Amino acid sequence: MGSSRVVTYSLNVFVPLTTFCRNRCAYCGFRREEGEAVFLSPHEVFSLVLKGKKAGCSEVLLTLGERPEVHPQARERLRELGYRSTPEYLEDLCRHILRLGLLPHTNAGVLSEEELGRLRRYNASMGLMLECAARLEAHRESPGKDPGLRLGFMEKAGRLRIPFTTGILVGIGESREDRRRSLEEIGRLHEEYGHIQEVIVQPFSPKPGTPLGGSPPPGLEEVLDAVRMAAEILPGEVGIQIPPNLVPDVVPFLEAGANDLGGLSEVTPDFVNPERPWPSLAELRERVEAAGFRLKERLPLYPRYAGDASFMSEEVRKVVSKLADESGYRRRPQKD
Ligand code: SF4
Repeated sequence: MGSSRVVTYSLNVFVPLTTFCRNRCAYCGFRREEGEAVFLSPHEVFSLVLKGKKAGCSEVLLTLGERPEVHPQARERLRELGYRSTPEYLEDLCRHILRLGLLPHTNAGVLSEEELGRLRRYNASMGLMLECAARLEAHRESPGKDPGLRLGFMEKAGRLRIPFTTGILVGIGESREDRRRSLEEIGRLHEEYGHIQEVIVQPFSPKPGTPLGGSPPPGLEEVLDAVRMAAEILPGEVGIQIPPNLVPDVVPFLEAGANDLGGLSEVTPDFVNPERPWPSLAELRERVEAAGFRLKERLPLYPRYAGDASFMSEEVRKVVSKLADESGYRRRPQKD
């Protein structure tokens, strides 16, 4: 077992910017129909961001449905807020978040290369779950979940040198072979562009009222197998994340090869899986360290990118240099 192997996490505040989405994934409990969907105002966003700042977070995780403006109500809301598009709104929000000394990490679904390039300037890293490299029934009503489209987006992020988080979703109707292919595709992109900082192995968690609400979650052995497969296929420098609120105990997953616990929040819930609260950091630290691992806080970009100016805009670099220590981890003089 990897005694004193480092396991990382980041402290974040989760901002669910909008629940409008052009897709309808069969397992989704985040998206809302017109009439119920919301688009947060800057005031709502910054009241969360400031709570996060006060709690010592380094990361602002902006998560939202894909291409919200296909819905007339979302377009109307953006107009009221003074924006023509969601990426334009995001750009403004991220710029202000950086000014407050925090680092944005945006998950906005598939964007154009031009939109991605503009957001790069104000994001420390960005993300898009591949979920699966095969076409699945669960994505029948989700044009944005076309695997070619998503891999193409991840490739654009590579060309633009954006530290990137992706992942696979385990238990949504894919086969073991599909998972292998997904991980191989991600590995191939990293070999070419060097930008994949981590791959999340996310177990599906059923949501009542959704088409897959009655399907069982994957068994622990299946998720462990996916983690082992990720460790075998992905280049060693790519982190493997296991979300600690979606498994009963992280230690077997760390022993299987995972080395990151993702963004933990003491300020906001996991809005994608609100039924699964985060374990407390103190509990996790005790459990992880008792098993012989060393828990270290990172920024929303992995340490190896924190010292590489080619992966950051000047605006991001300034904030990173204040928050990172000399090894690229979070600077915490009192604790680490
Ligand atoms: S893309 Fe995301 S928010 Fe939209 S329906 Fe699918 S899982 Fe839900």
